Amino acid sequence: MTSRISRLVVAFVATAGATLGVTVANPTPASAAMTICYNTSQAGSFVSVANQAATIWNNATSNLTLTANCGSNLRIYSITGGGSYAVRTSLGNGRVYIDTQQAQQYSPLRIMSHEIGHILGLPDNYNGNCSLLMSGGSAGTSCTNPYPSSAEATRVTNLFAGTRSGAERGSAVDSVVFQDSWPAVLAPIG
Ligand SMILES: [Zn+2]
Repeated sequence: MTSRISRLVVAFVATAGATLGVTVANPTPASAAMTICYNTSQAGSFVSVANQAATIWNNATSNLTLTANCGSNLRIYSITGGGSYAVRTSLGNGRVYIDTQQAQQYSPLRIMSHEIGHILGLPDNYNGNCSLLMSGGSAGTSCTNPYPSSAEATRVTNLFAGTRSGAERGSAVDSVVFQDSWPAVLAPIG
């Protein structure tokens, strides 16, 4: 445990030094690819899961690149209890919290990809459909799909391209806390 904490501290110090002064990923024209720097210095055991989720989103979209530890547009935290959730401060910026207890019941990669989806502008859609990433916990613990549907991926691409307008874009770039529902599965009594 001590060595793990030491490594985390070293990683945090290194990252903090490298990212001073960085506030926005890439304020370039909407048509250019945007880099979203995510920070895993507080991600605990979920670092590799975060990297896998970033790759999934990079492959699913055409105009954004999630890059590890080049800045802090997106901070990823490991927490225990209270539920996984996402805090989007603006499109592509915010914080994701992954509950270690939920990650023992639900696929950690699906939780991670889902919560990052909120940062990328997607709302929840708890319709129980496992083919949707944003159905989250409603699809049950047996659903391990970590991939956005083509519609979900297209929506993110369009949001970052600036081709969505009006109320839809407005709701996607708002500062929102997504307190997610990944229902606990209770052990049967007796
Ligand atoms: Zn959600």
